[in-house]
Amino acid sequence: MEEPTEGASLVSGPDGKKRRVSYFYEPTIGDYYYGQGHPMKPHRIRMAHNLIVHYGLHRRMEVNRPFPAGPSDIRRFHTDEYVEFLASVSPESSGDPSFSRHLKRFNVGEDCPVFDGLFGFCQASAGGSIGAAVKLNRGDADIAVNWAGGLHHAKKSEASGFCYVNDIVLGILELLKVHRRVLYVDIDVHHGDGVEEAFYTTDRVMTVSFHKFGDFFPGTGHIKDVGAGQGKFYALNVPLNDGLDDESFRGLFRPIIQKVMEVYQPDAVVLQCGADSLSGDRLGCFNLSVKGHADCLRFLRSFNVPLMVLGGGGYTIRNVARCWCYETAVAVGVEPDNKLPYNEYYEYFGPDYTLHVEPCNMENLNAHKDMEKIRNTLLEQLSGLIHAPSVPFQTTPATTQVPEEVSSQCQIYIII
Ligand SMILES: [Zn+2]
Repeated sequence: MEEPTEGASLVSGPDGKKRRVSYFYEPTIGDYYYGQGHPMKPHRIRMAHNLIVHYGLHRRMEVNRPFPAGPSDIRRFHTDEYVEFLASVSPESSGDPSFSRHLKRFNVGEDCPVFDGLFGFCQASAGGSIGAAVKLNRGDADIAVNWAGGLHHAKKSEASGFCYVNDIVLGILELLKVHRRVLYVDIDVHHGDGVEEAFYTTDRVMTVSFHKFGDFFPGTGHIKDVGAGQGKFYALNVPLNDGLDDESFRGLFRPIIQKVMEVYQPDAVVLQCGADSLSGDRLGCFNLSVKGHADCLRFLRSFNVPLMVLGGGGYTIRNVARCWCYETAVAVGVEPDNKLPYNEYYEYFGPDYTLHVEPCNMENLNAHKDMEKIRNTLLEQLSGLIHAPSVPFQTTPATTQVPEEVSSQCQIYIII
């Protein structure tokens, strides 16, 4: 592994210098199981973690076990009834007539099944993102990572698209206790609808989502959806087509985000790194390489603003593990070997056993002129923004207490 630059390990600095990275991992996360045939597999997070450990990346960051989010933490966004339902439902009880009405009401059943330990899974995912926000709020880390987070479709009182609790909204609400403006960037192949909806009418959070648009879940995210009321022009949607490649993506992502950083001047950034935008995803239809995907993180990291990095979708699990491992390396500032180290899930990575995957030869249906039009429309929309809106900042609310934070360099979780 190469050390690209010098720099003190605990000091923030311009791009290329090391960052203090805080990483959240719940060692039981890979045991949760959505059910046979379901594309969402929490096991991918364990696979990513296993690669991270075998590359020795855990030695370059602080490893934390998240404190599970409690019902009251989750109720900061979700309704009482919905949280009570999630906390009490089980595969055994879901057949009761008293529950069937609730299942329908909260959209739990098909895409979002009731599985063993469902609430524990939500608590771990949300606990990681809230814990990450607490680290950034205290100035204890420059970058905080939670690959079990990024569940962007969950609504206030409804599950959606394999997501039950919106850890991102909860993490951002925590960040807003200390930071005036938070930028949310979403590179999952699906529109970041739950997060956009939660902050649609405020200028304290700007949401930017890059996604496939047109006859695709969840159906929202039109370029003309820009926010409302105080939040007008603080939501940005970048609609894309099948076959998006690294070059086209970079040609949109960098200029748009550069402009957003200039005009909005966020105090903190949250990046949802859904890996279903990678080439060869079981549900996605883009053609990004791991490097092309990770370029978003590399670029946002270069602004040296407190950064929360989250997971999201990703359904070809060997590639999800590759991607999130590589992005962890980008966060800590090293370039790992393409040859994979031997690890517990080595057989998943054959026949090449490499970290990187090549994009395929599918056609890129994003025409150059359409991309230019999208870029110009969005840059124009951004130039109409009030530069860095100031917010009336009353007393800073109490920051969430995270009891007994497990935080040590030597606590490594490897589950086989
Ligand atoms: Zn997705």
